[in-house]
Amino acid sequence: MRIILLGPPGAGKGTQAAGIVNKYNMPHISTGDIFRKNIKEETELGKKAKEYMDKGLLVPDELTVGLVTSRISEPDCANGFMLDGFPRNVSQAKHLDVFLKETNIKLDNVINIEVDKNILVERAVGRRICKSCGATYHVEFNPPKTEGVCNVCGGELYQRQDDTEETVSKRIQVYLDETKPLADYYANEGIISNINGQQSIDKVFEDIVNALGSEK
Ligand code: ADP
Ligand code: AMP
Repeated sequence: MRIILLGPPGAGKGTQAAGIVNKYNMPHISTGDIFRKNIKEETELGKKAKEYMDKGLLVPDELTVGLVTSRISEPDCANGFMLDGFPRNVSQAKHLDVFLKETNIKLDNVINIEVDKNILVERAVGRRICKSCGATYHVEFNPPKTEGVCNVCGGELYQRQDDTEETVSKRIQVYLDETKPLADYYANEGIISNINGQQSIDKVFEDIVNALGSEK
């Protein structure tokens, strides 16, 4: 199964991704995670990406598209993959379409997690992530059993540098201007599933599984 997770920052894409890869056993390709790994390792790509990420802007397409197409070309993606946070604008979607056509790959579903703008800031600002395994928590809506400690692996939790109120607001604006049009783009291709993201984490997951049906 080849799927895309679409939705505004803070919609719950990363949270749901964990459940989806676990159930369907497919690689989780998050461009945000790839950029953050590069920043941590102080690579050239990381240095360039950081300039944009710190401002809540999109990293330019020329740094992003090739990264994803080469990742999809790796052997572990042969039977399926899940893209999280890519594509982020119509240009990226068109590049992806060209690549998929050339390689004879068909997208099965675009899961579009919908959440009202006014609750996104609260979600993103309260987000905490495990330094070791990447599990996602929220200080209020999905707290770990012990404050600051990951339930899964005992790792230390941290707050993303771009999860400040100011940067999140900018990221939401960028989403509305550049990413939201992708919902129409994929609706035209007839492969979108709109999911209400303002329900419990478990109920959102149930709706996603129902949308994916028996696809393999
Ligand atoms: P995204 O990857 O779309 O930016 P995340 O999955 O990181 O979003 O979720 C953003 C924040 O909202 C996290 O702190 C997460 O724990 C919390 N969250 C995710 N889904 C829900 C939900 N259904 N209800 C309440 N909070 C949620
Ligand atoms: P995310 O982890 O998906 O919230 O992304 C964090 C940041 O990484 C975004 O605000 C962008 O600066 C950058 N980013 C992630 N994915 C993309 C993409 N597909 N295109 C451009 N920038 C991206």
